[in-house]
Amino acid sequence: KAELFKLAQQVVQEIRNSGFQAYIVGGAVRDLLLDRTVDDIDIATSAYPDQIQKIFPKVIPTGIEHGTVLVRYQSTSFEVTTFRTETSYSDFRRPDAVSFVTDLKEDLARRDFTMNAIAMDQSLQLIDPYHGQTDINNKLIRTVGRAQERFLEDPLRMMRAIRFQSQLGFELATEVLQAIDDNRKWLDKIAVERIAVEWEKTLKGTYFHDAKQSLFRTGLVNHIPILSENSDIQESFQTLHGPLPSFASFIAYMNLNVSDIAISDWTNKWKLSNQIKKSSRLLVQLVQDYPKEPFNWVLYRLPEDLIEEFTILCELFHKDAFTQEEIKMLQKNLVIKDRSELAINGQDIISFFPNRAKGSWIQNMLLETEKAVVSELIKNDKNGIREWLQYDKQ
Ligand code: ATP
Ligand code: MG
Repeated sequence: KAELFKLAQQVVQEIRNSGFQAYIVGGAVRDLLLDRTVDDIDIATSAYPDQIQKIFPKVIPTGIEHGTVLVRYQSTSFEVTTFRTETSYSDFRRPDAVSFVTDLKEDLARRDFTMNAIAMDQSLQLIDPYHGQTDINNKLIRTVGRAQERFLEDPLRMMRAIRFQSQLGFELATEVLQAIDDNRKWLDKIAVERIAVEWEKTLKGTYFHDAKQSLFRTGLVNHIPILSENSDIQESFQTLHGPLPSFASFIAYMNLNVSDIAISDWTNKWKLSNQIKKSSRLLVQLVQDYPKEPFNWVLYRLPEDLIEEFTILCELFHKDAFTQEEIKMLQKNLVIKDRSELAINGQDIISFFPNRAKGSWIQNMLLETEKAVVSELIKNDKNGIREWLQYDKQ
């Protein structure tokens, strides 16, 4: 982290050497003050994107119309954005127009919460006109300016307030709670993709439980896609007490509780990827199979990137789970890791039963064989499998 900040200070210094102002801003400053990990650093500057492009040899234009470029500096990326204000959000999606300003203070004024509106200069001095440090010390989430106005201007900020509570464990200021209650219906105007980004961070937060209480207290839960639809869903969401590591595990959790909302309903309404749909389906299947199928057969179908999710869901639904390390160990010991390692294939099955017409029985038999081998009912040996299929199974 110290390395990263040192590089950022150098970027700031380089911009200043060309005669512009530049500061480290936003989440990086907040997380530094909180002693949390920092993965990326944003820089605000009085320079325009084309001027930044002249200062650094490697600049990637990522959002020129919003004044944002990505500066590559010693193999590290920094998002560099020109000071700006955002005028009216009449369609509730994106600012209608951004106007660039010369003053850092105006740029900080457009930011959502006081803790996100602190700037740091090249010598690590803080510029904190909205008293973000005080709010950080008091663990308080407060808007820059009036909450009512700021939430009406961009209703997504209500979701962001909740997600920061989930990540940081801060309280929402009374004014913020009240303003969410008053403005919550405007969240319906926000593109679901933007809500999803904040929602996933909310689900993962250490203080998810507190954030969930705020969602109910303010009534914002009535404007979260699908959760808004009925009280059954809200009740089962209430039973989720701790964080989940991903959107897929959240959908699986909800589907295991309320099966009449299909996984595709979740992924369609939230406009999520097929990958998330696939992962949610598999998680539901494996968690349901856990008490009734051979454990090896569950392990065999559990991909590495869902092990954490699987153990958490098993703990929640079966009060019984292996650790991730145990699962990895057990997976290493599986007879085969993949169908391609099976001693037979579809062609072999056809040759074992020369008189049968082709049909879906071939795939079914292959699956049954795979399962029997994985569960160590039979050996992974071509002749053994043939005999098992021809005499024991018919
Ligand atoms: P994270 O660590 O999760 O990235 P962050 O504070 O960096 O947290 P971002 O969403 O990356 O959050 O936004 C960067 C900064 O831009 C914020 O700190 C805030 O100052 C400002 N910001 C982002 N979204 C909004 C918004 N909707 N309204 C006002 N300011 C915003
Ligand atoms: Mg960020």
